[in-house]
Amino acid sequence: MENRIRHWRRERGLSQEALGKLVGLGKPTISKLERGDLRLRDVAIAKLVDALDVPAHDLLGDYAGGMAAADAAPEEETVDATETDFGYQKVPMADKAGMVAEVFASVAPKYDLMNDLMSMGIHRLWKAEMIAWLKPRPAMRIADVAGGTGDIAFRILERATGAHVSVCDINPAMLAVGRDRALDRGILDNIDWLCGDAQALPLADGSVDAVTIAFGIRNVTRLDAALAEARRVLRPGGRFLCLEFSRVALPALKPLYDAYSFKLLPLLGEIVAGDRESYQYLVESIRRFPDQETFKAMITDAGLGQCRHRNLSGGVAALHSAWRI
Ligand code: SAM
Repeated sequence: MENRIRHWRRERGLSQEALGKLVGLGKPTISKLERGDLRLRDVAIAKLVDALDVPAHDLLGDYAGGMAAADAAPEEETVDATETDFGYQKVPMADKAGMVAEVFASVAPKYDLMNDLMSMGIHRLWKAEMIAWLKPRPAMRIADVAGGTGDIAFRILERATGAHVSVCDINPAMLAVGRDRALDRGILDNIDWLCGDAQALPLADGSVDAVTIAFGIRNVTRLDAALAEARRVLRPGGRFLCLEFSRVALPALKPLYDAYSFKLLPLLGEIVAGDRESYQYLVESIRRFPDQETFKAMITDAGLGQCRHRNLSGGVAALHSAWRI
């Protein structure tokens, strides 16, 4: 179902906040409407259409026509190859990257603090485990994809002085925080900051010894394209190592983990970063990500060999390792 609110807003150069102010709705509501949250349509969509005085179809596309019918009967699930997941929402493929960009532009200033709070510092242990498995050596060239604020890169350089890391991330706001952190730590050499998409890396074929990606791949629109790119930039014999949230393998942990992620995390996002929506997306995107075995099969399908995984904290996160053979 086509929802044009985002296009309409962007055409006019309005932020979600500015549009919200214009129509008397909060930014989170605009964000929900843009994601097609049906539960809000009666009240909020009517308010939006009225306040902007535009034909409903301009704003909602086919969705406007579908509203009456949708009121009468619940829609049937259809599989649309042009749609993808954005958390629990289905969105047009072409829109996902922009929506993910908004999330990370919004969370960037508080990203590192929130990481520590949300995981109670455990993400540090998981990242340490990733570096321990990678065993970086001084002469290695490494691409840290979706490298954000530089956590993985700094850890690599700490362990292997003389290695070179290209941090590649699609979001300039995250990279800017990373660059500042590097300056604060006096890290000026052996690191570069590239703004680019994991699905079209700005790196030459066979140019790196390892590709790392931590908590990034679930945000990418096409996992297969990102894995193919990782393979392309790896030299033969190079290593792919991915750290990502995964499927909890201990049944006893699940109720606790669910309550924590669906109740506490969005609340923390609201209190600390003033942005409940973005953290709600992060939680949902974790649940949408394939489980350990499915992801392993996808890595193998991309042409990487000898894929193995290790569960971390009972499967809350997992490390997947594979090689370009
Ligand atoms: N790797 C860092 C870490 O572990 O702290 C940052 C992880 S953060 C949860 C996810 C990062 O993925 C964000 O910085 C975001 O901008 C980046 N990202 C999302 N989609 C991307 C894409 N298509 N290509 C490259 N980076 C992307």
